[in-house]
Amino acid sequence: MSGITSRFAPSPTGALHLGHAYSAIRAHDLARAAGGRFLLRIEDIDPGRTREAHITAIIEDLAWLGLGWDGEVVRQSARLGLYAAALDRLKAMDLVYPCFCTRAEIAASAAAPHGDEAPVYPGTCRHLDAATRAGRMAAEPHAWRIAMDAAVARAGPLAWRDDIAGAVVAVPEKQGDVVLARKDAPVSYHLAVVVDDAAQGISDVVRGQDLFAATHVHRLLQALLDLPTPLYHHHALLVGPDGRRLAKRDGAPALALLRHDGQDGRELADGLRRGQFPAGIFDQKA
Ligand code: GLU
Repeated sequence: MSGITSRFAPSPTGALHLGHAYSAIRAHDLARAAGGRFLLRIEDIDPGRTREAHITAIIEDLAWLGLGWDGEVVRQSARLGLYAAALDRLKAMDLVYPCFCTRAEIAASAAAPHGDEAPVYPGTCRHLDAATRAGRMAAEPHAWRIAMDAAVARAGPLAWRDDIAGAVVAVPEKQGDVVLARKDAPVSYHLAVVVDDAAQGISDVVRGQDLFAATHVHRLLQALLDLPTPLYHHHALLVGPDGRRLAKRDGAPALALLRHDGQDGRELADGLRRGQFPAGIFDQKA
């Protein structure tokens, strides 16, 4: 067996569509071609949006596509202690702070410049004094945010390797003080993904280009938590006729629908491997 371990890590908050299938196939094939391991991790950290029915469908979709994984299916909801321990380490380094702001307050902040993803947090709660912070923590729900400037200063210059983009200098500052633990969920995507990729020995992270910006933050967290950095493969996304990436909300057909329609999943997967996409669907580069 080679040293390659890859994973598919869907969030069970909706149905998988062709874009997910494409990503899963690429991650699976990378490992299988090298005689390595391919893991399935269910990123069910959002209790409000996770549905058991989506988890069942994900498992059936992958089997239908002919993609087998190694070992047990890992669910992030069963690993909350690991994420809490990582957050505690960052607290001990004084690199995180509680944030009491609502989404509406952040959105209303006219000064907030926009990063690659969500609006960049204007830093309101970073400057609270210790007494105010302690009082509000006892009384109000709060998230935990990274103190980005302090974290970057502590980590020093960082880079990572992307099989497609080449050597990338990490610029996490652009994302601002991102959330590491949410008010309504004990951990955010950024922290959970970094902890799990390391804990599961993931050597190669294969995922869509839409998560490229997040990797700047992931690289920083790896440095702060002394975790290894995998090789990344941020692949082009599948897009619809309007050039926008496939999304369920824009009518991208769910794999489950194609499956129930009697389509052959293995044939579909082989088509995607050869770059033959169903009508109206393109690879972003094309
Ligand atoms: N759970 C994330 C998603 O479904 C993907 C995580 C990753 O591949 O890093 O968008």
